[in-house]
Amino acid sequence: MVKVIMPDGTTLNAEEGKRILDVIPRGIGLIAEASGRLLDLSTVISDDLGEIRVLDFNSREGKEAYWHTTSHILAQAVKRLFKEAKLGIGPPIEEGFYYEFDLGGKTFSQEDLELIEEEMRRIVEEDIEIVREEMRREEAIALFREAGEPYKVELLEEIEEPVVSIYRQGEFFDLCRGPHLPSTGYVKYMKLLQVSSSYWRGDERNPVMQRVYGISFPSKEMLEEFLVRREEIRKRDHRVVGPQLDLFSMPSEIIGPGLILWHPKGARVRRIIEDFLVRVHLSRGYELVYSPHIAYSTLWKISGHLNYYRDFMYVFEKEGIEHAVKPMNCPFHILIYNSKRRSYRELPLRLFELGTVYRFEKSGVLHGLLRARGFTQDDAHIFTTREDLEDEVVGLIDLNEYLMRSFGFEELKVEISTWDPRRRSEYMGSDEDWSAAQSSLEGALRRKGYRYEIMEGEAAFYGPKIDMKLVDSIGREWQLSTIQIDFNLPRRFDLKYVKADGSEEHIVMIHRALLGSIERFFGILLEHYAGNFPLWIAPIQLRILPVSQAQEGRAEELLALMSARGVRADIRRAESTLSYRIRESELEKIPIIAIIGEREMKTGEISVRVKGKGNLGSMSLEDFFRTFGKELLPPDMR
Ligand SMILES: [Zn+2]
Ligand SMILES: [Zn+2]
Repeated sequence: MVKVIMPDGTTLNAEEGKRILDVIPRGIGLIAEASGRLLDLSTVISDDLGEIRVLDFNSREGKEAYWHTTSHILAQAVKRLFKEAKLGIGPPIEEGFYYEFDLGGKTFSQEDLELIEEEMRRIVEEDIEIVREEMRREEAIALFREAGEPYKVELLEEIEEPVVSIYRQGEFFDLCRGPHLPSTGYVKYMKLLQVSSSYWRGDERNPVMQRVYGISFPSKEMLEEFLVRREEIRKRDHRVVGPQLDLFSMPSEIIGPGLILWHPKGARVRRIIEDFLVRVHLSRGYELVYSPHIAYSTLWKISGHLNYYRDFMYVFEKEGIEHAVKPMNCPFHILIYNSKRRSYRELPLRLFELGTVYRFEKSGVLHGLLRARGFTQDDAHIFTTREDLEDEVVGLIDLNEYLMRSFGFEELKVEISTWDPRRRSEYMGSDEDWSAAQSSLEGALRRKGYRYEIMEGEAAFYGPKIDMKLVDSIGREWQLSTIQIDFNLPRRFDLKYVKADGSEEHIVMIHRALLGSIERFFGILLEHYAGNFPLWIAPIQLRILPVSQAQEGRAEELLALMSARGVRADIRRAESTLSYRIRESELEKIPIIAIIGEREMKTGEISVRVKGKGNLGSMSLEDFFRTFGKELLPPDMR
């Protein structure tokens, strides 16, 4: 008898010789796992499998098999409808799946996708059995060559193993490791989402493939929920909203990919965020520094970055000497620390810089502001003693909390990456360094009342770290803040301080970026608020609308008055109807509109509309500032 564990945790004992499929109720599982291997449910039960665990859609592996099977259904449908299509690959992805086809230069239209989806539904209705078959590699090559599938042949020719597996469903077969669901009827609700062009294996010398993306779920509700959420995410996409609101652009054809042009309104927002950061840091005992954008590349040789980071660096030569554009600010701050002998009285020394760095990332992984080649870190390096480390970390967590709350994020998720003592030799620093640092990080989090997860073995070789993720308005998690202890650079650069008794000791160094990068944070903020920035961040806080030309003089006076009081305001003259201008201002996501009509001319009041709240009616300027005065200011100036 072999123990079979069902997805809900119940178990049953199954006889050898039967298929897993035959001993469990249909509809309960999708695939199975035994001894760390994933199996089809058609696998015959035997003692040597050990305990068998049945997996359903709630498990990551179950989802992937579900989506992978749907991708095979997609490929089968395409082969039925487009005989000339050649198969590329069709894996499951983070959410859903794709399959690539070479259509000989043709592209799929929206109508094609609808036809394909229809055919996929037919294949599901046919409930075709999915069968795994193993064969020698040469046999498989012959099979796919005969079928006219050159890409499969290419893949097979690179496989080392002598035996490969293919999966058949009816007339369709594919080179595939599996596992797959028992039959096509297991897939319930499917949707093809989009089609894009991509080079075979991402290489531009190769033919262009049509990549069709899709999703599938076991219930209609899950599919609908997914589609609603997808639409919500699409609407918020900073790459759409940003240019729409004239905040930034990224004309990659002219300036290269991953580089950003900040338009006036975006630059305003950025400066508001940066000024806020600088004030807050100065008020919390940081010193502001600046460092150059380029330096001899030898600087990063000393820091050790050049060795394993070179591919990400922009390196060039001048006067026969190799220079590099900085990919990080650390070595500069270290040189500032090391510019003189430091006494314990000067510690902790906290150096803060809005440091713009450049890192070469492959164009394929770039993603708007979220992943760019040039970006500005809210970077600081803290030089402290081992004794003060925990207090410093508490201060950092405090600061981070304050910043995140100021920007409207309440929920943070925390992880500590620690070393794996079993791989001791891979780490820099002494045992005492590590245990002291790790307990400081944990101690600080406990003092602040945080729950945290420990990721053992996830630390870099040079020290443990805390990562903090925020959760946005639609529940997405974003990794932003990192507090990284470093035992390596203080030794490489010989960073010491003089203790009270006159002896010297190595300092402990913390790297930290709380927003991460201004660009990325800006993108996240834009998506979090769907472009409706809070009042203190909005590039234009107040729009003044004179009802007719007769009120334009008064509107000008009001603009001057508002500007003098620090309000970011502008005017739309009475060149179009009032309702048109109100609508236009709302599309521009301007938080407050002040309307001046004949009545307001007489009373000296303004009629106020607030985005998301509607008409507040007329109010005096004193009332206006009583109501909005604080909100108009950054949190630290209220
Ligand atoms: Zn496959
Ligand atoms: Zn650093």
